[in-house]
Amino acid sequence: MERGFTVDYAHGMVLQSTWHAGEPTEAKLLGFIGGLGVESDRHSDPKIISYRCPECHLLLNYTT
Ligand SMILES: [Zn+2]
Repeated sequence: MERGFTVDYAHGMVLQSTWHAGEPTEAKLLGFIGGLGVESDRHSDPKIISYRCPECHLLLNYTT
């Protein structure tokens, strides 16, 4: 298995994906302005690392 990570493309940024508990909910600025994606906590949500099988391309994800 080869170690890697899932790339998350944002507005002008390339990030490493993270894991967040629960169902996705819309993020809102000041509690009412939407269009910001989903709620998350980039400081405490664990990063996702992946292992890829070079033969069958299976991905296994783990959090840090
Ligand atoms: Zn395989």
